[in-house]
Amino acid sequence: MRLTGVASCARRQRGAKRASLWVWRFGSLLLTLLASCSSRAIGQESECYAKLKAADVRFERVPATKAAGVEWPIKLTGPVDGVKIYGGRKNAPTNYLDCRLALALVEWAPLLKRQGVEGLQHYSMYRRGAVVGRSVNVSGHAFGRAIDVASFDLRDGRRLSVLSDWKNRARGVDPCDTTSRSEGEKIMRDLVCEARDRDVFQMVLTPHYNDAHKNHVHLEIAEHGGSWTG
Ligand SMILES: [Zn+2]
Repeated sequence: MRLTGVASCARRQRGAKRASLWVWRFGSLLLTLLASCSSRAIGQESECYAKLKAADVRFERVPATKAAGVEWPIKLTGPVDGVKIYGGRKNAPTNYLDCRLALALVEWAPLLKRQGVEGLQHYSMYRRGAVVGRSVNVSGHAFGRAIDVASFDLRDGRRLSVLSDWKNRARGVDPCDTTSRSEGEKIMRDLVCEARDRDVFQMVLTPHYNDAHKNHVHLEIAEHGGSWTG
């Protein structure tokens, strides 16, 4: 989904926070149109690559012709702060991503490690021309700005699967309510909810949202005002 905004950055952020909390907590049928002024609001492509390098993330630039729609396409060639991000065939386009999504993963990594996570298996990040469900709305995947996380690999060898370990997925239930949840389910929910609360990702869709998300959590970074600056 392409996100646009018209209000000023600060005003939009306040409004978006309120809207996102409402959507996040109560599962609105509306797709969220969230704006943000996060730390990834950087205007220069070179700045993004420099930040990744400073974080010791190994990556390769991907030619724009191979990743149509992605502004700053890269592929990861090593873990992100010790967390392996993987899915499908190693060189598949679904492993391409916008540099700014990689920065969001850098931001998330310390939280993941604190919960004992050393790997994230995803279904896709980039999908050329992807749309939301059966609509005509362009998905964040078309821009390489979203990741569909299918499972979390723990240091102790366990794998937490969204499909089989995210038990209660009733519509309208707060995804962040971890009361009476198993340890594994609590880890997943805590990680997703903390990333959302800390504004690491601006759009988060869980199994509570619809059946299309029964086996993954969609985590997307949002642009604002048609620009990444501001
Ligand atoms: Zn997705």
